[in-house]
Amino acid sequence: MTDAYTRAVNTGLTKTIAMRLGLPRPALLRRHKPGAPLTVGPVLLVSDAASAADADAVGKALTGWSLRVARTPEELADGERWGAIVLVLTETARPADASPAVLSLPGALKRLAPSGRVVTLSRGAEPGDAPALAAVRQGVDGFVRSLAKELRAGATGNGVVLTGGVDAAHPSVAATLRFLLSAKSAYVDGQLLAVGPADVADVASERTWERPLADQVAVVTGAARGIGSAIARTLARDGATVVCVDVPAAGEGLARTANAVRGTALQLDVTAPDAGQRILEHALARHGRLDVVVHNAGITRDKLLANMDAARWDSVVAVNVESQLRINEALVEAARDGRIAGPRIVSLASTSGIAGNRGQTNYAFTKAGVIGHTAATAGLLAAHGGTANAVAPGFIETEMTRHIPFATRQVARRLSSLLQGGEPVDVAEAIAFLASPLAAGVSGQTLRVCGQNLVGR
Ligand code: NAD
Repeated sequence: MTDAYTRAVNTGLTKTIAMRLGLPRPALLRRHKPGAPLTVGPVLLVSDAASAADADAVGKALTGWSLRVARTPEELADGERWGAIVLVLTETARPADASPAVLSLPGALKRLAPSGRVVTLSRGAEPGDAPALAAVRQGVDGFVRSLAKELRAGATGNGVVLTGGVDAAHPSVAATLRFLLSAKSAYVDGQLLAVGPADVADVASERTWERPLADQVAVVTGAARGIGSAIARTLARDGATVVCVDVPAAGEGLARTANAVRGTALQLDVTAPDAGQRILEHALARHGRLDVVVHNAGITRDKLLANMDAARWDSVVAVNVESQLRINEALVEAARDGRIAGPRIVSLASTSGIAGNRGQTNYAFTKAGVIGHTAATAGLLAAHGGTANAVAPGFIETEMTRHIPFATRQVARRLSSLLQGGEPVDVAEAIAFLASPLAAGVSGQTLRVCGQNLVGR
């Protein structure tokens, strides 16, 4: 639920007072509603000269999603606002070549709608690139992260990075672009997501976009409450049959989530040595298949390392990372044996695992570990058509963060480009995208869902 300050500065008298005093006003973010338009207005599509053919291909995808696409800023009618700006720099050869395209944007940015989107398409730097090419490719990274910090009113800036020779017209690229344009990415800001070639369903079909997990079976650990419960609900909305896993002590919440998603409940401590086998057996016996596993179960036991004890350190390691490693081993083996086909695994990391956090050496050790094993597991699954990705949430409004002292909680919320904490559904939407066949070209990556939290790299 949106925090009290954000609600207050957006409603009634308190909104007027906040505006008079010039207080920071976090926006009410636009979130996904089935059937709602992809963007809140037309899309401005801009490229440099060398990338014009790629921009044409992107324009075709955009119009296929019923969006009105303009190629010059002058095409916006009086009183209208841009729903999104898409900047294509896929074939730009050197930094100076980007100028005309980039410098056509300032006026358009002033007319970007609330919760609008800026998305770049570029290519990832490859070993052997000429220095000028490497400069422009890496340059887009700094450009996107800075522009995202300049946007206001819930607008976000993100990038799609083409890798492995994938072309701009590839459905894999289109699927990621569509996710970043949509309200599903409300709390993803200042991020670049690399996409490679893969066999991806055509996202032009509304059915594929709205129900990408139709007929698939997904397992979510830690599903009794918080982010896990939101993940289960979002995967079910997207068509999946969901197996909800949590410890027996959380049985009531677990049953609530499982009933709400019309899935099944599996009471299981993920640290059990046979947790992987139990998950496989349950999914195959009850539902006949297993397509997605979301490693969401996680705990914090914060202490400065100077005061750390074995119980705190070891429990966090056991739940947050060792359990995931053991379950993944069972999944890779099952994929090798052909008992399951190409599983898509998504693990919960954290911005603490990227930036570090005082009092969280144990937690950050495990969450950085998740980022590491995700990249390694992606390689093991590639041969079987599976993927492994991680999501690193920033500050999300849940039971876990409700226990943080008031002042620290306020600072954590406001220290992001979107000036607010995220909601469990924001993390769930990113996971649902990465868990879907639409993201078959995305693997080994960690996507931050943090409103561009100012902590870290
Ligand atoms: P939460 O404490 O509200 O829920 C965690 C769930 O995991 C609970 O239902 C709990 O019973 C379950 N669980 C714990 N140990 C388990 C075990 N051994 N076996 C099975 N289930 C177990 O937490 P949350 O805020 O919803 O966080 C979910 C995930 O997101 C965690 O991995 C957390 O580290 C990560 N995360 C959260 C935030 C945030 O701001 N809330 C930020 C970054 C990362």
